[in-house]
Amino acid sequence: MLKSHLLICACIILFLVSCKKNNKDHIREIQTIIASDSVIIDCNYTFDEAIKGTKAPKKFIKGLELIDVQYYSMDGKIHQGQILTNQRIARDLKEIFDFILKERFPVAQVIPIVRYNWNDNLSMQANNTYSFCYRNVSYSKHAKGMAIDINPHQNPMRWKKEYSYRKDLPLGASYDPKKPGTLTPDNPIVLKFKALGFKWGRNFKRNHDDHHFQK
Ligand SMILES: [Zn+2]
Repeated sequence: MLKSHLLICACIILFLVSCKKNNKDHIREIQTIIASDSVIIDCNYTFDEAIKGTKAPKKFIKGLELIDVQYYSMDGKIHQGQILTNQRIARDLKEIFDFILKERFPVAQVIPIVRYNWNDNLSMQANNTYSFCYRNVSYSKHAKGMAIDINPHQNPMRWKKEYSYRKDLPLGASYDPKKPGTLTPDNPIVLKFKALGFKWGRNFKRNHDDHHFQK
């Protein structure tokens, strides 16, 4: 009995030590990627600057967090941007962006939508990736920062056949699965989002909202 308890304890300790080591290795790997290239800063807002002008109620703002993320942009260089998002998914997004960086999946730019005066159309035209935007509270997960849109030019929302009369692709957007930065069902980034419990907009009822993930 005592022997089996000791064995279980030893296994738990070994498991914890290996987790810690993996985590350290992972952090070192990310640091090496970032250090190997000079990082281009796409934005550097304070939290107050990132929420300036939002009409969101205080209780929504209280639930937000501003995180820094690094990614290869379309120019092949490493950029640093920020995501204003819900505290409940901030850690997931950090993990996903570390993965995006390691996979070299290109992301055009990641800038809080305050840069575009809280206007989704202007943000999409700039091929911008963002999370929080207070709007359509009844159905939009962006209103509380529980959703993120990635590369809207490469992953535009496409209406399903019966709704195809609604054509409002952002300027410059087109869907071509072969283009870098495009999300497809077997793309590792999509699989990573799903593994962390996010729903992908591709499977929405009326449209394929490919750039959209939510929790
Ligand atoms: Zn969205």
